[in-house]
Amino acid sequence: VIEIRELHKAYGQLEVLKGVSINAHKGDVVSLIGSSGSGKSTILRCLNLLEDSQSGEILFDGEPIAWKGEGHNRRPADGKQVLRVRTNLSMVFQQFNLWAHLTVLENVMEAPVTVLRQDKAEVEARARGLLDKVGIGDKCDVYPAQMSGGQQQRAAIARALCMEPQALLFDEPTSALDPELEQEVIKVIKDLAAEGRTMLIVTHDMRMARDISSHVVFLHQGLIEEQGPPETLFDAPRSDRLRQFLSHSQ
Ligand code: ATP
Ligand code: MG
Repeated sequence: VIEIRELHKAYGQLEVLKGVSINAHKGDVVSLIGSSGSGKSTILRCLNLLEDSQSGEILFDGEPIAWKGEGHNRRPADGKQVLRVRTNLSMVFQQFNLWAHLTVLENVMEAPVTVLRQDKAEVEARARGLLDKVGIGDKCDVYPAQMSGGQQQRAAIARALCMEPQALLFDEPTSALDPELEQEVIKVIKDLAAEGRTMLIVTHDMRMARDISSHVVFLHQGLIEEQGPPETLFDAPRSDRLRQFLSHSQ
């Protein structure tokens, strides 16, 4: 579903991604780990075309993103492509990013109705089903501020699912939460993994990464230092940097 080839990204003089290649096939759960500033969020943002990149390829469903311009002026060539990518790769952020002035149900329905112009009744039925699925079916008419962080994040996951994306992108979905609330969100993510959803997850939660990943990528200063199945990465890391990173994060 997703192929990133030799992606380079710089903010001005600061090179953040120095040639990163990542594949996620259908049903893969790929975890991105690495220390702060290693470029994890940047990868997700480039993939979702929230950021431009300077060189390298991004293929989505086998189709490469076409670019115009070069270097710091490189942008996706057309808006249709951007819409296709964003529709099919739904992102869940650390800070939930729910609309404060909309109820939970309205939050979940917003994009399918306004962006995809889908039938409102159908979207509502789907949205209610998804809110049930993530365990907050009773919160449809509540505003985000009236919910716990864990409930808000589950609403954000329902909102991402309501786009019926081919893959979900998570950026540290549990790191703004207290440990008890973290568990309810982890459970939802585990259920999604068990359903065979394609997911790319940036996480500092090594236990979750080990439990649900089919593939783990360890990023160090904008380069992939080591990658492989979770058993290999966590139990038999080859790189000293990875060993050091793991010893600090468990
Ligand atoms: P964390 O674990 O702290 O979230 P990360 O691995 O997600 O870190 P990124 O957010 O991808 O790291 O940032 C990588 C580098 O790019 C950092 O040095 C950061 O300061 C820099 N950076 C990120 N966004 C911008 C921006 N908009 N402008 C300039 N520099 C940025
Ligand atoms: Mg980040």
